[in-house]
Amino acid sequence: MNETIAAISSGMTKSGIGIVRISGPESRAVAEKIFTTRSGKPIILDQANHIFYGFIRNVSRETSDEVLVMNMPAPHSYTGEDTVEIDCHGGILMMKRVLEAVLDAGARMAEPGEFTKRAFLNGRIDLSQAEAVIDVINARNDNAIRASMGQLKGNLSEKIREIRKRILNRTAFIEAALDDPEHYSLDGFPEQLDRETEEIIGEIGTLIRSYGRGKLISEGINTVILGKPNAGKSSLLNAILGEERAIVTQVPGTTRDTISESVSVGNITLNLMDTAGIRETDDLVEEIGVKRAIESADKADLILCVTDSSVPTDENDREIFRYVKNHKAKVLFVINKTDLSPSADAGELLSDIPEELRDTVFISAKTGYGIEGLFERIEALFSDGGIKHNDEIVISSFRHEQLLTRAMKSLEAVRTSIADGMPEDFFTVDLMDAYEALGEITGEQVSEDLINEIFSEFCMGK
Ligand code: GDP
Repeated sequence: MNETIAAISSGMTKSGIGIVRISGPESRAVAEKIFTTRSGKPIILDQANHIFYGFIRNVSRETSDEVLVMNMPAPHSYTGEDTVEIDCHGGILMMKRVLEAVLDAGARMAEPGEFTKRAFLNGRIDLSQAEAVIDVINARNDNAIRASMGQLKGNLSEKIREIRKRILNRTAFIEAALDDPEHYSLDGFPEQLDRETEEIIGEIGTLIRSYGRGKLISEGINTVILGKPNAGKSSLLNAILGEERAIVTQVPGTTRDTISESVSVGNITLNLMDTAGIRETDDLVEEIGVKRAIESADKADLILCVTDSSVPTDENDREIFRYVKNHKAKVLFVINKTDLSPSADAGELLSDIPEELRDTVFISAKTGYGIEGLFERIEALFSDGGIKHNDEIVISSFRHEQLLTRAMKSLEAVRTSIADGMPEDFFTVDLMDAYEALGEITGEQVSEDLINEIFSEFCMGK
């Protein structure tokens, strides 16, 4: 624990500035060994929270780089320990040379997530806040940033602590009453405990229910584009990916030759599934080009059903409409090719679909007309998936959801015991189990293995 660790904390890509971070009791001594003025005179980092200008030299006293060095003594640093950060030039080779000089001067290479792990072990942040740090780094849209920043600020931790306190208080009361029946009476207590437990279950239930939204927010909306050949699926895909504000990443699919492309615009992230399939639909014309897409559609949260308004509706369209009509995903009908004159029966296109399910948007994938509006419609369709205010707590971690569910089950067991007229000491066992499950969220009650597992998912230098 008291070793001094170091790592490159900025991204390992070409950038203007690179940051090498050192944390631990020897941070200052390590930095002072290699930090000098231009003429080679040692620089002493004798002021706290101060930035020093100078040069990093390696063990053979060769100059590595011209740098700024920040001295942040404990406890006012990210890790809560003595920390020194070196701002060097952002070339990969340069960052590595500066890191090597730091390691030669006595620091050990940090493991992934070790800085944040130390912040946790030093009590600067709790476990759910540490987990929020990864979420902030991985956030792909504005809602995800908002949710993870709230968790980082401690919104979830505060709520969990408050619930735990109430549970502990009730347990303590039962134990006190059993020890000292003369002073504490349990008359009417089970009824009161039942009401309180019901209330807590309600609060935990709200947190658990936010998990679905949290997942959509952080992981994105699984989206499939369906439509007959030539409807414009591939053009729509390109228009979406080419949208000016979009941040696009490619994600390989689970089966061979499927690709998902993930695109984030503003508050939402769409995971466009099987985009390779869409691009190859010409080969699948005979199978109305959607067989594979329909397979992916089973996992979809959203189906974009593309139709060509310039040609009459045919059996292919109707087959797709029949398919999406009963689908559990949300369906948006995308009427394409508005730049061409509409086919006479374009108005009847949707007559098979009940009106309340008819969410339509008009676009021209060719000119880009309506693409902005398409994003707005999707956002509106999933608007209860958004985050209305900054303090709203949204669970996005499977681990948290599982622990909350365990706590809820234990509290339900308390209510069952009350209903069955069991003796009071029965209640405390389940109350304490709920208490412990919740404690694993904030890390007040976790094993070292779990801590290591959580931090191993972090990136280097964080
Ligand atoms: P897919 O088979 O459903 O993927 O359809 P494509 O995206 O390959 O489009 C089929 C044809 O329609 C191509 O020639 C496109 O250029 C054309 N196309 C697609 N969208 C539009 C549009 O909005 N307006 C016009 N005029 N043509 C379009």
